[in-house]
Amino acid sequence: MKIENNLVVQIHYTLKDDQGEILDSSAEHGPLPYIHGVGALIPGLEKELTGKKAGDKFTAVIAPADGYGDYDKEQVFQVPADGFDGDDELELGMQVQLDSENGPMTATITAIDGEEVTLDLNHPLAGVSLHFDVEVVEVREATKQELEHGHVHTPGHHHH
Ligand code: ZN
Repeated sequence: MKIENNLVVQIHYTLKDDQGEILDSSAEHGPLPYIHGVGALIPGLEKELTGKKAGDKFTAVIAPADGYGDYDKEQVFQVPADGFDGDDELELGMQVQLDSENGPMTATITAIDGEEVTLDLNHPLAGVSLHFDVEVVEVREATKQELEHGHVHTPGHHHH
């Protein structure tokens, strides 16, 4: 069965950056199950997977535009440190939730300078070329319920 929209696919993958550093891998938590074509994966990787079948292995380099987006300097800004409530000590690299007109957003603290904190709303992998090693583990039809829910039902899956 070849991968096409609305099929359930399981992949093993290793993701590296340009320097060959491993950013993410399915080795620890097992193959990643997803429904093809519903936007669960970044667009560039879905494109590479289309038409592949179980057992296929491939490598792909995906440009930021087809991954987590280009890095946008406009998404970086300073706020006063005393604007943060909560008990957590602010640390570099910490992710904080912000309320915006478009709902909650996640920002990363990229600098702390006295009373001023720099927040970056870019995805941590924005501007990064993504080097994937992928192995297709399984391709199967989705159940009606999986398509309705928009996610894969694996053993132990809980419904809310
Ligand atoms: Zn469900």
